[in-house]
Amino acid sequence: MDSNSTSRALIREIVAHVRCAVCGHHFAASDVRVVGRTEQVWAMHINCRECRTQALLFAVIKEGGAEPIYTDLAPDEWERVKDRPPISTDDVIAVHQYMQSYDGDFSEIMDEPLPEE
Ligand SMILES: [Zn+2]
Repeated sequence: MDSNSTSRALIREIVAHVRCAVCGHHFAASDVRVVGRTEQVWAMHINCRECRTQALLFAVIKEGGAEPIYTDLAPDEWERVKDRPPISTDDVIAVHQYMQSYDGDFSEIMDEPLPEE
């Protein structure tokens, strides 16, 4: 199967099995757009015409079909993080060290704006 027919088949499957997580409305093929893919996971932007919710759905390719998984990412958040490298052991150690040296409370952390990139 070429990439386009794979994509169409996958979208058909998603449309048949997935409903809007907010209002339960069925999707049409035109509500689903593939925004990224690896060999086993396709990322899809889903747009509900009923309640206007936009969601990011991962379709995990398995033998015999695809398993849809709703993410809690908004489609624009996905655009920001998709090309980042996976979290490494060094990242975990860095956060751990930061937390050990931090002597404030969490309400301070939550109030701080996100660092500029
Ligand atoms: Zn909806």
